[in-house]
Amino acid sequence: MTDFTLTKGDDGVAIITWDVKAKSMNVLTREAFATVEELIDQVLSDDSIKGAVITSGKETFAGGMDLNVLASIREKSGENAAQGLFDFTMNGHRIMRKMERAGMDAKTNKGGKPIACAITGTCAGIGTEIALSTHRRFMADNPKAKIGLPEILLGIFPGGGGTTRFSRMVGAMAASPVLLEGKMMNPKSAKSAGLIDEVVPAEELLDKAREWVLSATDADIVKPWDVKGWKMPGGAPYHPAGFMTFVGASAMVNGKTQGVYPAAKALLSSVYEGALVPFDTALKIEARWFTKVLMNPSSSAMIRSLFINKEALEKGAVRPDVADERVKKVGVIGAGMMGAGITLVSAMAGIDVVLLDRDLEAAERGKSYTGDYMDKGIKRGKATVEKKDAALARITATADYADLAGCDLIIEAVFEDMGIKAKVTEATEAVIPEDAIFATNTSTLPISDLAKASKRPEQFIGIHFFSPVEKMMLVEIIKGKETGDRATAKALDFVRQIRKTPIVVNDARFFYANRCIIPYINEGIRMVKEGVEPALIENAAKLVGMPLGPLQLVDETSIDLGVKIAKATKAAMGDAYPDEAVDEVLFWMADAGRMGRKSNAGFYDYDDKGKRQLLWDGLEGKYPVSETQPDLAEVQHRLLFAQTLEAVRALEDGVLMDIREGDVGAILGWGFAPWSGGPFSWLDIIGADKAVELTEALTKAHGDRFATPALLREMATSGETFYGRFGAGSAKAA
Ligand code: NAD
Repeated sequence: MTDFTLTKGDDGVAIITWDVKAKSMNVLTREAFATVEELIDQVLSDDSIKGAVITSGKETFAGGMDLNVLASIREKSGENAAQGLFDFTMNGHRIMRKMERAGMDAKTNKGGKPIACAITGTCAGIGTEIALSTHRRFMADNPKAKIGLPEILLGIFPGGGGTTRFSRMVGAMAASPVLLEGKMMNPKSAKSAGLIDEVVPAEELLDKAREWVLSATDADIVKPWDVKGWKMPGGAPYHPAGFMTFVGASAMVNGKTQGVYPAAKALLSSVYEGALVPFDTALKIEARWFTKVLMNPSSSAMIRSLFINKEALEKGAVRPDVADERVKKVGVIGAGMMGAGITLVSAMAGIDVVLLDRDLEAAERGKSYTGDYMDKGIKRGKATVEKKDAALARITATADYADLAGCDLIIEAVFEDMGIKAKVTEATEAVIPEDAIFATNTSTLPISDLAKASKRPEQFIGIHFFSPVEKMMLVEIIKGKETGDRATAKALDFVRQIRKTPIVVNDARFFYANRCIIPYINEGIRMVKEGVEPALIENAAKLVGMPLGPLQLVDETSIDLGVKIAKATKAAMGDAYPDEAVDEVLFWMADAGRMGRKSNAGFYDYDDKGKRQLLWDGLEGKYPVSETQPDLAEVQHRLLFAQTLEAVRALEDGVLMDIREGDVGAILGWGFAPWSGGPFSWLDIIGADKAVELTEALTKAHGDRFATPALLREMATSGETFYGRFGAGSAKAA
């Protein structure tokens, strides 16, 4: 069974249907592309066929290219990876160009066969690029369906002709939201943006496209750039209007990407240079830039972490082999900030929720979070009253433990206090079924210690959400010493139900994400004490691709939480505690009442409405800025290694069991420089020997917290990479 099939209608219109049977969403493989060419050849050579409609056998049209294909071409081409990728891309151009020219005469542009695209639903990437190379695009009127070219979000850019075609269709300026921002649009917006031609009722989609094919004239199917005298809409780069577009776009790209994402720059170059030459040459230029981006280690690392490995983890790559553990009824204990969020995402996923707090009023307050959230969605046209009612109907707010009786999973999110959590565990286990799994959302308390309150520690596990629950995509699952496979499977199945990305780690102080993020914040604060210009600290972080500088981050999470964590850590570590210098600054800020955003005062100033202003100038009174400032690169290395070395240690300690989880978790959990693909990918990009050299220099200048981990040293000696050594799914450090 091929992914594309052709059926010839009595009216002479061929219907080419894309339907990848093994997948819920059509993705394009190398073989399928070859079939497309065969079918196009058939359409063009069979005299009884008047034209064709390309459509999908699914409610959605296409998810894009199977990015595994690009990864495998690169691998298979070995030394000639660039040539392999370029040839593959050019072959795609040739096929789509054949479709676009549709057999018409090169000189007169006459005699071609019309080909329309009937887009049934969501359509992205190469799916959209195929549609763009047909002569007319019809899309079913489904406001939930989205169409676009989101490649840029994965660190590449539309390299299947989308960049060249779309910029020539609407002009560089108008193409910018689609190409540079990767915006996915509903059919109506896509029509205004010029991405599609007609929005029609779903049941009429195929008929409308077919009618058009039967009535299309020679002139209807010639693309504007194939007509002599064509000019780029909005002006070519050497015209005053076009020139201004590129100046503006260039500034925008640099502002948004801070220069760390190669794809946006390459896209812009491709549009600019392509606009100066004929269409077929422009496609070649696009293919060259595309190859260059694919060959950039940042792009492959981003694709590997943000697409291939993220998807693998979501599909259960690390799930133990036990039966289906999907959750039917979840009990959430503690209806505060986290409990309310967990309730919301569970109810939205169609799971029944019993939400328990100390009194009914508190539980109801937690439940109302779901109502308020849905109300906002209704206002923005993203939810409906029916959906809100259905979600609320799934939630039972209560203060009575007996109501937890039918729950197969419990998630405890009460105060961060060992004693309170122990009491809650006991009270809950007295009423829930024997085989129910008990999870805690603790952020700092060891799972194995909390499990001591449980009669069934093999059914006890950590499910650590990040705040705000509805926005943050990562969920960290923590196995205690005695946690069994069924508990892990249950946690993973639950995370899949609520459509988030899981990582599974072993129990140790701060688990994985917080373990790495705390040293990042601390390194920033430490630099303040040393007299490094705070603006340099913050900008260095952003210029290396961190979404928030360390000082802004601690303002967001609150200074008093930092103080609390520092005190608890010191109590646990005793003399070995390494962060006195950090605490001096942190405690001084707390004493001054500057608790961060929540108190409208922290390392930054805030206005009356809570909007962040400049860095607080009072900081300088206590910690004067030194006359000599470190290099930007040194500050960046300190900030990146503070996190990365902790990730390597987590792997050495066996907290992290799989480097894929380490990378995906870092990007989704705390925004670790996404361009790098995560801390392990970053180390692979710079190379273990370079990492050793840099950490040795940092250790000499700043102390043992930068000491080179043995694993890194070993890899530098043997010339290995993390992905080379640990590969997919076999990432045991030992
Ligand atoms: P919160 O103070 O907003 O909510 C805690 C809720 O638990 C309150 O509604 C309280 O009434 C209820 N509660 C307390 N004792 C109870 C008991 N004996 N029985 C029933 N209900 C009880 O706290 P939060 O920020 O939602 O945090 C909850 C848990 O999640 C903590 O363990 C925290 O460490 C963890 N966590 C928090 C974050 C975060 O960013 N806030 C992130 C991850 C994990």
